[in-house]
Amino acid sequence: MNSMHNITSLITQKIKPSIAVWEITLRCNSNCIHCGSGAGKSRSDELNTEEALELIKQIRVCEYKGIALMGGEPLIRDDWYELAKEVKDNNLELSIVTNGLNLRKHIEKLKKIDVDCVCLSLDGGTSKTHDYLRGIQGAFHKTIDGINLLKKKELPVSVITTVSKINFTELNIIKNILLDQNIAWQIQIAIPIGRFPRELVISEEQFYTLALFIAVNVKKYSYKRLPLIGAHCMGHFSRFIPNLGLAPWIGCQAGISVLGIQSNGDIKGCLTLPDEFIEGSIREKSLTEILRGLRLKKKKLITNCIKCDLVNNCKGGCLGTMYALQYNNSPYCLRAIENKFFSKKNLPLKGKLDSSISKLKNIYKALYQI
Ligand code: SF4
Ligand code: SF4
Repeated sequence: MNSMHNITSLITQKIKPSIAVWEITLRCNSNCIHCGSGAGKSRSDELNTEEALELIKQIRVCEYKGIALMGGEPLIRDDWYELAKEVKDNNLELSIVTNGLNLRKHIEKLKKIDVDCVCLSLDGGTSKTHDYLRGIQGAFHKTIDGINLLKKKELPVSVITTVSKINFTELNIIKNILLDQNIAWQIQIAIPIGRFPRELVISEEQFYTLALFIAVNVKKYSYKRLPLIGAHCMGHFSRFIPNLGLAPWIGCQAGISVLGIQSNGDIKGCLTLPDEFIEGSIREKSLTEILRGLRLKKKKLITNCIKCDLVNNCKGGCLGTMYALQYNNSPYCLRAIENKFFSKKNLPLKGKLDSSISKLKNIYKALYQI
């Protein structure tokens, strides 16, 4: 009885479900090197229209604020519009994460449905890099065309850049493309899930430099000129770098405010987690039941985090990154990286938090010369 009460209060009072990220098909017309889903062909057992429509109702009942339809390529699914309409009819925010290759074909429907956000990937500042990463010649021009088309239709557009060793040096070029365009820009790192090779993951030094790139540019440009943010899992309690995401870091949100749904109805806390984290299938259990199971799971902490002074606030870093990189003591965490590198370089470890642009630039420069 007592534990039932705890579960109920956990679900009804403390947890604020935010977004269900739903890979509606694994089929894709791109062949991205860094694809975390290893997309290409559909799964043989993907949810049919009726099952998918029912799931949307359950997501609303579980009080999620919005659904992000992604893939594979979501616009490839024949019934995407029907599913998207159901999302809107249930008063949920609708985001569509697309590679943009077929945007012209679907633009009128996207306008009609009043989509809340179309998220396009821009992974290179040049067609050479972007096309190489996406595995499709001409992808860069189609993405830029898609962005312009969405803007012309006055649809909210955001750009996601997934950073790896291949495009790390093109961030400034991408920034110049997006500057003053009123396009939200989210930066995240590529991790070795799906078909992305481990050796192309940025190093810890590059990770820190990337965080500085975000911080310096957030400081340099107004939000109106460059609405830039880091993904919610980028950066934990740096002594120098301000929070990079939209909200302060309160620990991995897998199964809490974030939910990951595979195209066959298998559900895990976050799509970046390996399949051993599947809590159940929507074909066998209700979403409420699956969520209850997910939220009772205790998150594993690595040694570095257990010893960290901020573990109670932070609760460890991104679980998906931890599993993908199989690290033990070197998380992609700004605080841990500062502890590891800055003492060696005699940079100040303690002292007042100073996020002034000159200080950030000095650290940026110092790290760049590593
Ligand atoms: S070391 Fe772990 S607990 Fe500490 S700030 Fe980094 S991710 Fe969080
Ligand atoms: S696994 Fe990482 S990306 Fe997923 S919710 Fe947790 S912090 Fe976010």
